[in-house]
Order: sequence, then C-alpha cells, then structure tokens
Amino acid sequence: MKWEGQEQSDNVEDRRGDGGGGRRGGIPVMGGRGLGLGSVAIALVAGWIFGINPLTVLGLLEGGGAPPAAQAPARPAHKPPAEDKAAAFVSVVLRDTEQVWGRVFQAAGGRYDQPRLVLFRGATPTACGTGESAMGPFYCPGDSKVYIDLDFFDTLSRRLGAPGDFAQAYVIAHEVGHHVQHLMGVTDKVDQARSRMSKAQANAASVRVELQADCLAGVWAHHSQQGKGWLERGDIEEALNAASRIGDDTLQRQSQGRVVPESFTHGSSEQRMRWFKRGMDGGVVAQCNTFEAKL
Ligand SMILES: [Zn+2]
Repeated sequence: MKWEGQEQSDNVEDRRGDGGGGRRGGIPVMGGRGLGLGSVAIALVAGWIFGINPLTVLGLLEGGGAPPAAQAPARPAHKPPAEDKAAAFVSVVLRDTEQVWGRVFQAAGGRYDQPRLVLFRGATPTACGTGESAMGPFYCPGDSKVYIDLDFFDTLSRRLGAPGDFAQAYVIAHEVGHHVQHLMGVTDKVDQARSRMSKAQANAASVRVELQADCLAGVWAHHSQQGKGWLERGDIEEALNAASRIGDDTLQRQSQGRVVPESFTHGSSEQRMRWFKRGMDGGVVAQCNTFEAKL
C-alpha cells in the first residue's frame, strides 16, 4: 500500500502518553464493576477481537444488560508525534475512510459524521466503560470512537499470522464500518433486539453485525482503490488472510482446540473473507445486508 506522504486525519487522539495504562492487576474494570477472570477468559475465547463493543458481550455473559456508561473525562486531543510511523499510517487510513464514506453518504443524500480514533496503551476510559488492550481494537457507539492499542498489529502479524499494511488497514476499516453501522441505526436496532434474545440468538445477531462490518470494510477498500490507486500486489490477499485468521473457527481451534459454532460472534473464516470480498467487489453498501441474507 503506497500510503506514505498521503493526507492524514485530524481525528486521531493520542492517549499513549497519559500514563493511565496500567492493567489494574489484569482484571478489567468496566462500568465501575470488576469482572472475574473467568468471564474475561470466556469473552476472550469468544473471540471479540474486533468487537463492536466488547462490553455488550460481557454484559451478556454476566447475565445483565449493558453496563452503565462511564463518563470519559473530557480532555484535549493530543496528536501523535509526526515521526511516529505507525500512528501516521493509522491517520492516513482513517483520513481515507473519511473521504470515502463522506462521498458515499453524500451520494445517498446523507452526511457522514467522522468518528475519532484513540490510540492508547493498556487501558483507557471510554463511554462504554474501561477499554482494555486485551480486547483488541473496538468501536464504542457511545462516544463514536475507535480504540486501538497499536501493539495489536504485532499480535495480528506474529501471533495471528496476518502481517502486512493492508491487513492493518482492514482492521481500521472494519472498526470504521461499525461507526457506519452506528450512523445507519443498525447498532441501536440490534442492541435493542438483543435484550429479548437468548444467548445463542444474540451470538447469531452479533455474527451478522460483524460480517456487515467486514463487508463495509470491503466497500471502503473498493472506493479507496478507485480514488487513490494505492494498493500494491499482495495487499488484497493480506486483508483476506487477516479476515481468515480472525474467523471464529480459526481462533477457537487455536485457543481451545475445538470449534463451537453456536458460540461464534464474528463469523467463520470463510464467511469473513467472503463478506469482505463481496463489499470490495461491488463497492455497494446495499450488498452488505447481512441481516436478510444467507450468511
Ligand atoms: Zn467488529
């Protein structure tokens, strides 16, 4: 991906120097509640790497509704240092998503409200409770922010076997896809329905949400390439490989040695690749209706 020297987003907020990134003894504190390691472990196995809002999943595991939103303190946004290459990459990709989705929304007669992207280390307050690095990147609809600990890209590359800049771009585009879902009202609708669902039904709904975010990431990739022509040989494969490596079946096989489809929250490797590809091939949001399609 020929990203260097491209325009960067103003919506990146660097909290890495805040010093508040302790692991708090390894037990995440969310919405003011401590969670036992048991449910945290289960939630991790459930694979909410790239979760839309991990706290929703945790809320389900705890048997309660969504935890109360913890108010993130208002603070001035720090920009990442100019020489920080990883941060520059994220800013460039985020800027391109702003341009692409700005055009797509405008063409549909709407307006795209840009999300912010927070770089953090360890832990950080969000409108969805305390965000933790261990969750992987996530989007919080309560404050319209994407949260990423850049160390995740090492995990993605080395531990999950998905290296490459376009694999990283796909991760960012997937999270921005959750923001698009939020703007389209999908998130609220699903969250409302979730309260009346069994665990298995809620998981199935989560899969549809996540595959749609993958498809929207593909829609971005389509228009991004049309606009900038910046993809290089192997880039598409990097994104497809990443989609495959974070499929629920692949992650479960890795972490627990067996696959439990009822517990899927993000979709199988095959599904994730297929929906990303579908978005990328057509570049049409309407083709991302995972709620009325056979998955
Ligand atoms: Zn997601």
